[in-house]
Amino acid sequence: MQRRAFLYGGMGALAACAQPATDGSTAAQSEERHRWRMVTSWPLNFPGHGVSANRLARRIEALSGGRIEIQIFAAGELVPAFEVLDTVSRGTIQLGHSAPIYWRGKLPAAQVFGSIPFGMLAEEFNAWIYHGGGMELWREAYGAQNVVPFLAGQTGPQMGGWFNREINSVEDLVGLKMRIPGLGGEVMQRAGVLPVNLPGSEIFTALQTGAIDATEWVGPYNDLAFGLHEAATYYYYPGWQEPSGALELLVSAEAYASLSEELQQIVATACMAEADYVLAEFNTRNNQALKTLVDEHGVQLRRFPNDVLAALRRHSAEVMQELAASDPMIARVYESYTAFAENIAPWMLVSRRAHIEARDAV
Ligand code: CA
Repeated sequence: MQRRAFLYGGMGALAACAQPATDGSTAAQSEERHRWRMVTSWPLNFPGHGVSANRLARRIEALSGGRIEIQIFAAGELVPAFEVLDTVSRGTIQLGHSAPIYWRGKLPAAQVFGSIPFGMLAEEFNAWIYHGGGMELWREAYGAQNVVPFLAGQTGPQMGGWFNREINSVEDLVGLKMRIPGLGGEVMQRAGVLPVNLPGSEIFTALQTGAIDATEWVGPYNDLAFGLHEAATYYYYPGWQEPSGALELLVSAEAYASLSEELQQIVATACMAEADYVLAEFNTRNNQALKTLVDEHGVQLRRFPNDVLAALRRHSAEVMQELAASDPMIARVYESYTAFAENIAPWMLVSRRAHIEARDAV
């Protein structure tokens, strides 16, 4: 009986598709309606992240001709920022917009999809996701939570952070109290830093009152908006702890399966378009904001000394090896990631780096 019902259902859908409705769409399409909700880990107008989540929702609505409607909620409106994955996992809400770095407790392998210290840049990461097996591993890792993940954006390279004193040697890191969460914090701890994790809303006051000596946040665009230049003088690069930060759209597996193949393609394609668009936006705004910070606010831009970066890189390798040894899924994801990173490195040197150097040749 079930097979018959399936067959007839399938034939019914085919028949409907064969008869265009007057508006050009087919009858089957016009019957498909999804009223979804999206919870996010950001304030709705949060520069970059929040704006992008909203734009992605509007893209999906427009591309689907309104067949998918999305009501979007800021962090804390329906659920707190760090409960987005759990909420979508339960299927009570269909969509979430967040970042993989937040799920280290529940899905340790997610960290590799977010960003890892001294890891791949956005362009390299995208190559791994779409052509190097990264997406298949991401789907597998999140599948355990009944969630289908999509790459929905990237911040591009972040900055090393704000310091209230200069860092001229590895000794200058010892005893420093710094807000730096996640893997970057573990690496810093091995260098003698006392890492602390503070929510975004508390960073400025902590830095200004001296409760912390340093903080990393995102990049010039977000950091300027936060006013961090008013609480510390030295702004360090590169942001070794996050060479890029992935943003993700989380779709409840049940909700995703309820979509026609066409609407599934629309969700996937909207994510690819938005990922590209928001990275271009971060690059544009970061450049403008860095100029403002240096020219108008007198921020002292500093590059971490080579011996400091070399020490942090050694500690990062240890942290990542220990992490991979702690969980079989992380081991698989990290192995795929590092193999791809090593393979693409020679091409990045003769293409991207060589071009940037060539533009400065005298
Ligand atoms: Ca960061």
